[in-house]
Amino acid sequence: MRLPLNQNLEDLPVYQPGRPIEEVARELGMNPSDILKLASNENPLGPSPRVVEAVREFAPKLHLYPDGGCYALRGALAERLGVAGDHLIFGSGSNELIEFVGHALLEPGTNIVVSEYCFAIYPIVAKLFGAEVKEVPSVGYGADLKAMREAVDARTRIVFVANPNNPTGTLCAPEEVEAFVESIPEETLVVIDEAYVEYLERPPSLIARLADSRFSNLLLMRTFSKIHGLAGLRIGYGIGRPELISQLEKIRQPFNINALAQVAALAALEDDGHVAATTKLNAEELQYLAECLRERRIEFVPSYANFLLMRVGDGAAIARALQERGVIVRPVGAYQLPEWIRVTAGTRQENEIFVDALDEVTGRPSLR
Ligand SMILES: *Cc1c(COP(=O)(O)O)cnc(C)c1O
Repeated sequence: MRLPLNQNLEDLPVYQPGRPIEEVARELGMNPSDILKLASNENPLGPSPRVVEAVREFAPKLHLYPDGGCYALRGALAERLGVAGDHLIFGSGSNELIEFVGHALLEPGTNIVVSEYCFAIYPIVAKLFGAEVKEVPSVGYGADLKAMREAVDARTRIVFVANPNNPTGTLCAPEEVEAFVESIPEETLVVIDEAYVEYLERPPSLIARLADSRFSNLLLMRTFSKIHGLAGLRIGYGIGRPELISQLEKIRQPFNINALAQVAALAALEDDGHVAATTKLNAEELQYLAECLRERRIEFVPSYANFLLMRVGDGAAIARALQERGVIVRPVGAYQLPEWIRVTAGTRQENEIFVDALDEVTGRPSLR
């Protein structure tokens, strides 16, 4: 091929998502209903029944373009969060927001600061825009915020912190995050990725900072993919000062949020019961999984999210063997964690299937 491609594509790493159930079923010659996916931190309870109903009701109107401004959803979400509507930007998953900030701020000669074991998309997007990635060693598998602050230099355009972090499940204390945000120069954007914030008992309160124009360099990112169980619809959002949001809006495609995603997200916001059921199940099942791992003397990182990172030996081989038994988990070799796998907390029945399969592939007699 003789196309003069963007140079940055040459060595660009490709993100490896959790494998879809249908793909694994085809490969193994199995029925998709016999396959369990615990690889992408999806909600084991699925979407709220109210969402399913709202989507069904909306289906006859699919010939119409969506509302590019997400009017109804924006209003409902702004009220929930206690901000004005102009503090919000919606993305096709929060992943799209990462790309927006890349477009807005990154070019060759600039850099981003991230932690070791950070969410994989940050470095990929930085490299796509030709920016350098400054990776700061972690402490206890979590972000070392003081060291990250020290790594910020005059060319640092964005510093990313996922809190809780994926794939490690670690959490930085709210006071430390607040101090960190305050310490970052106004010339550097601070992105706090709160994809799992709704699972926390005491969620941090950085939104209050956005009342102050000093924090026009702060962007909080959240998603409907995890707690709300809408990963398939692709919708996330950013919260920031209007002077930042209005610039990012220029990058956004007019209809990036499809109509079903808007309808579904709005219905999801109205179902507090589903969110509560999800957090309750998650807390119980994380505890169950942790107990199973302790009994087996398998090391794990205590998690504040909806998954557990566990040290199983050869992570890739164990993930492959589990997959042959119809259980899809996430090997994390690409995160420089070759001995580990990341497993989403499922329902009790799903977690039991996982633990049994793990016992089989590690050759342990079942302890259950
Ligand atoms: C899952 C996840 C996201 C959200 O992805 P979507 O694009 O909204 O589905 C963002 N950040 C982190 C750290 C995640 O784990």
